[in-house]
Amino acid sequence: MNQTPPAGRHFLQIPGPTNVPDRVLRAMDYPTIDHRGPAFAGLGRACLDGMKTIFQTTAGRVFIFPSSGTGAWEAAIVNTLSPGDRVLMFETGHFAALWRKIATQFGLVVDFVPGDWRHGIDPAAVESKLRADATHAIRAVFCVHNETSTGVTSRIGEVRRAMDAAGHPALLLVDTISSLASIDYRHDEWGVDVTIAGSQKGLMLPPGLSFNCASPKALTASKTAKLPKAFWSWEEMIAPNDTGYFPYTPATNLLYGLRESIQMLVHEEGLENVFKRHDRHAEAARRAVRAWGLELLCLEPREYSSALTAVLMPEGYAEADLRQVILQSFDMSLGAGLSKVAGKVFRIGHLGDFNDLTLMGTLCGVEMGLAKAGIPFRKGGVDAAMEYLTAEPRPTAKQAKAA
Ligand SMILES: *Cc1c(COP(=O)(O)O)cnc(C)c1O
Repeated sequence: MNQTPPAGRHFLQIPGPTNVPDRVLRAMDYPTIDHRGPAFAGLGRACLDGMKTIFQTTAGRVFIFPSSGTGAWEAAIVNTLSPGDRVLMFETGHFAALWRKIATQFGLVVDFVPGDWRHGIDPAAVESKLRADATHAIRAVFCVHNETSTGVTSRIGEVRRAMDAAGHPALLLVDTISSLASIDYRHDEWGVDVTIAGSQKGLMLPPGLSFNCASPKALTASKTAKLPKAFWSWEEMIAPNDTGYFPYTPATNLLYGLRESIQMLVHEEGLENVFKRHDRHAEAARRAVRAWGLELLCLEPREYSSALTAVLMPEGYAEADLRQVILQSFDMSLGAGLSKVAGKVFRIGHLGDFNDLTLMGTLCGVEMGLAKAGIPFRKGGVDAAMEYLTAEPRPTAKQAKAA
């Protein structure tokens, strides 16, 4: 019973997977090559080196796995920690809760600091928890940078400063699955030990690749970490990666796509412009939400996510009904409310392959959907966003698109 319109593009405005640019799709449409042959090394190195630029690291080492982001969560844990290790985590939302579950399944002892799903990690709480740990029993601090279930971005630089202020040696592990290559993120400058990422959000690729970026301190920790690992072992990756190869069959065609998305993000648009583009679209989306008379889930302006906007439904109206109307009428997918906020929020993804008119099409779909679904709201959100985008200059690309 597909009632969606038969023509035009589907609008995939969930906060991942995101729309894959045609250029990236075309880059993947080549025969798979021998991953042990001479032609492969250049591809492997281009991907590993390009990802270092995207993680903003020179000292770190990048690992690429053929998996969804969940695999990279597991890889970060098993390579750095041992059974019974204590770790500090923060309940920022659904994804923090899922990561905690994995940590618990591996026998880590998790101190899960409760949260209200409307704020990011409180750096002062990080400092006081670590100061209270005089024996340095806590081995790692786990943070979700951009909490995709709430549209709240934690301030990782401030978390780092809090750890330093407490003089605590714990490792810092950060999930950037929905922020990398959309929101400014600095692995080296923020002293992160393991950064975790995935292919299907800011990198504009299909699902299927995941990443760890490990600091020298994390690599040292991996030498004594006792959790069992085989597929996820960094150790097995290091020697082949040095020459551009992998210990087992890599997702070669996704790597073709990754090489192209690195070209677009790093060498053509430039990361700074990518971040500014996302900031600008997020601000326009928030202006639309406010003009509609609806409420943002995120309560702290410093923590507004530039990758997605989570919007509270008016009391008594279910988000699933709104999303259903929008999907059927306009062929657009929006993000659902997850676990604790199920039924209460919908999420507008505005990350990845995204321009002013993609945003305007998305916001038009939401505004028309609100009317069609009989949700109480004020008209004018689309106008507010248009006004902002018209007045606020667009960041200019680093160089013209390759001929
Ligand atoms: C999407 C997402 C995940 C899960 O990644 P999968 O690729 O679905 O395994 C984890 N953390 C965050 C913050 C995410 O946005």
